Amino acid sequence: MAKISVQHVSKTYKGGEVQALKDVSFECEDGKFFCLLGPAGAGKTTTIKLIAGIEAIDKGQIFMDEQDITDLLPKDRDVAVAFETYALYPQRTVRENLAFPLRAPMRKGGMSEQQIQQRVVEIAKLLGIEELLERLPRQLSGGQRQRVALGRALVRKPKAYLLDEPIAHLDAKLRHRMRGELRRIQLELGITTIYTTPDQLEALSLADYMAVLNNGVIEQVGTPAEIYNHPINLFVARFVGDPPMNTLQAKLDGSDLVLFGLAKLPVSAELKTRLANALAGDGVVVGVRPKDLDIVTPDSSEALFKGEVKNVQVLGETSIITVVINAHELRAKLNTQMAPGRGERVGLKFTLDDCHFFDAHTEQRLF
Ligand code: ATP
Repeated sequence: MAKISVQHVSKTYKGGEVQALKDVSFECEDGKFFCLLGPAGAGKTTTIKLIAGIEAIDKGQIFMDEQDITDLLPKDRDVAVAFETYALYPQRTVRENLAFPLRAPMRKGGMSEQQIQQRVVEIAKLLGIEELLERLPRQLSGGQRQRVALGRALVRKPKAYLLDEPIAHLDAKLRHRMRGELRRIQLELGITTIYTTPDQLEALSLADYMAVLNNGVIEQVGTPAEIYNHPINLFVARFVGDPPMNTLQAKLDGSDLVLFGLAKLPVSAELKTRLANALAGDGVVVGVRPKDLDIVTPDSSEALFKGEVKNVQVLGETSIITVVINAHELRAKLNTQMAPGRGERVGLKFTLDDCHFFDAHTEQRLF
């Protein structure tokens, strides 16, 4: 177990043509589950490769506890890695693939053959691949191969697990189960884990701490609750949360906040001062999560906006409705029993307490 500290790390590919990471810093405390969340190409895999020592760093340092491991060979870092792309030994059976990390020469002296076999079966059971132990990788489905790759990482008890989208290829049900299992294993073993995913829900539900990565830059680091409740900028606000936060262009007009140039929301003198100070007259973007929008009848005095329901997506107990207001769209997450039908005219309301305020120019959070 170890604390991992990534400090001011930059990485380019193709002789500097592609900047994969720019001055990336974060810390994963000993024994914690840290998620790196970001869209495709954000730099998640690169971060894992640099921590594992598979790629060389251009600038910056990586520490494990107090030891600078920046220039250490991969084999000397005592981390176990699982990649989305499996990288299994094609000529070896699942059993041999799983046992391999336990037999690596530098780890000799640890386990007897019987202990190795015991551990292999234990991990195979945990991942539901017990019946596949005698098969070769080519005789497995993508999801099965991915579980073997994950098993090959979890079979050992290293200082840290580095898991790069390790369950991306499983079907939704299995992914859900594996998320629970992974978290359980990690808590049980207390092994420091860095886990990458493009799936915000996965990060929110797994992580002790998480970092949002975009275009090689860390946008925000915090607990899932901090990131969900206080997104630091519009990118994080829109990327974390499903469906994404609604964002409305707004201007101050007297004591009203005018949203989309359509709806007037009266604001307190205090809020007006805070907004005016922060913006000095510039525009604001107001963010409201779909769960915080409510529907009312279109002629209700509470209706901030009136519009037509363009789409209804039923997700079991909840439904997502998309309401068109002139050229704008707002989404609301409602109890399915309360959801209106497609084509219906509705009013939408929300309160200032549920709003997030961003600077329209810098896109940074105001408050
Ligand atoms: P994904 O979710 O698609 O796996 P990612 O967040 O893991 O994406 P990386 O694979 O780290 O992102 O890639 C970051 C950037 O670096 C991307 O622009 C990618 O195209 C580029 N890149 C990664 N590896 C190489 C390489 N070997 N040569 C050139 N460019 C690369």
